[in-house]
Amino acid sequence: MPKPAAASPFIADRLAAGPTLSFEFFPPADDVAARSLEKTVHRLAELDPAFVSVTYGAGGSTRDNTRDLVIDVSRHQSFPAMPHLTCMGHSRTEVVEMLDDYAAHGIHNVLALAGDPPADGSPVTGDFAYASELVELVREHTNFSIGVAAFPENHPRSPDRQTDRRHLAAKLEGADFGITQFFFHADDYLRMIDELTQLGCDRPVLPGIIPVVNPTSIRRFAVMNGAAVPEELWTRLEATDGDERLAIAVDAATALCAELLEAGVPGIHFYTLNRTAATAQICANLGL
Ligand code: FAD
Repeated sequence: MPKPAAASPFIADRLAAGPTLSFEFFPPADDVAARSLEKTVHRLAELDPAFVSVTYGAGGSTRDNTRDLVIDVSRHQSFPAMPHLTCMGHSRTEVVEMLDDYAAHGIHNVLALAGDPPADGSPVTGDFAYASELVELVREHTNFSIGVAAFPENHPRSPDRQTDRRHLAAKLEGADFGITQFFFHADDYLRMIDELTQLGCDRPVLPGIIPVVNPTSIRRFAVMNGAAVPEELWTRLEATDGDERLAIAVDAATALCAELLEAGVPGIHFYTLNRTAATAQICANLGL
């Protein structure tokens, strides 16, 4: 995979020069996790990613940790670090403050997300209902590259596929690029791209790939995200552990990435789960 020709700080430019390689991290919960993540970032940086992204806890629960990690990685690495930002529960004023703070620290990209309503069923607070409203505010207020989330198998709160695709196409039109939720069948991604094309939307959408190093927790995430897990793969993963499980997870993700690259995807975005081994091995297998 070629290195982006331009060393632009904007992910949109890097995607235009793609295909790209990128990694997602989450903010560490304590000092031990922070030291481990530092090593992971350092090792994966050797693969020369086009960018990395850092998740944001719903309602702002990791607000400072996300910010600090993004600024730290941007300062020490040659590629941009993009904060995720969920808008549910935030006021417009709070979001503008965060965007200004990021801009003041040389951050030029944001992944604009809705987030999820409170799990206890209490009403959503704040000035935003949908990610598209955050996209509009970021566009009005900054010159950032804006990414948004896409769900190949439909977002679980969507009433039907057509409605989901209409909202997704409209959201992407206001943004610069998309990143998908993880999925396990290339056809789900390719069908989504066809449907977006039919709606006149040609924004690049990066497939999000998760190596299934922990089948139990990834099944739980999949249920929340509306992603179908291949039972045959899970059976094999659950029957083993350690290096053998890692090898199965790596082989499955390598095969999925190879199929997607062959189909001409704009890049590959890895959900690293803050670990090095699986992602690094998949990249090595693919010659990335
Ligand atoms: P939206 O685009 O607002 O869509 C949510 C639902 O509303 C969809 O069903 C959509 O079809 C519908 N909809 C959209 N617009 C309208 C409209 N105008 N009228 C009616 N319905 C509409 N969550 C976190 O908490 N932190 C993270 O860091 C994080 N990172 C993520 C990264 C990626 C790549 C992905 C794919 C997801 C991530 N999420 C994260 C999860 C995400 O916040 C949730 O899945 C959330 O439920 C949906 O977010 P969204 O931005 O897609 O929402």
